[in-house]
Amino acid sequence: MLGGAVAQSLNVLREAANRVPGLVDTAAGFAGVRPYKKLLLRVVILRDEEGKALAPDEAVIPSFLEAQRIFMEQARVRLIPAGTMVVTLDEPAPALDVHCDDGAWQEDFDTAGEFFRRHEARDRGRISGYGAPVTVFVVRDISNKGGCSLGPLTNYVTIEARMLPRARYRLIAHEVAHACGLWHSKDKANLMYPKGPGDILLPWQAAILRNSRHVTLL
Ligand SMILES: [Zn+2]
Repeated sequence: MLGGAVAQSLNVLREAANRVPGLVDTAAGFAGVRPYKKLLLRVVILRDEEGKALAPDEAVIPSFLEAQRIFMEQARVRLIPAGTMVVTLDEPAPALDVHCDDGAWQEDFDTAGEFFRRHEARDRGRISGYGAPVTVFVVRDISNKGGCSLGPLTNYVTIEARMLPRARYRLIAHEVAHACGLWHSKDKANLMYPKGPGDILLPWQAAILRNSRHVTLL
């Protein structure tokens, strides 16, 4: 319980602190200077009660590659595997069926949040939050949703195993963009439209994404 509250508060502070120096990048971006940046990403596949993996490793690769393509083309951000691109956990997970929005927020304080924090990639940014990787957990069910992100509150997002191939593999890109501070768009062609295969980011969206604490120059 306390772990979730502390982690969330720290992440909000980290996000705010990291956005300030990022304004230089934003200003440079609007002046046409957009150096390559990078974001560390890992996908973690859970096992069900019977010990069966919710998806084979290969099922993740098209979504990872699509996220790489979109982030590079739309924001000049390289998505780099955080150590290992895909990990399947050894033990059955206590957080197979989860919720989104308020439910996810509550669960972040509880077993699910504790479990996700324990298994998230921790290559960088442990304390400052700067450059902290984003971890995508492949779960069995998210109530009424295919994927979920608590935005800057957590370093993890969730997606349903069955949704991996949907919408031309764009769901990982969509949820990771939420984790980098983007919210929904009403434009169907946009990556942040809630459904469908949209993959476009507008310059101001790219600026927000590039300015996330998960995205770094080095
Ligand atoms: Zn969304």
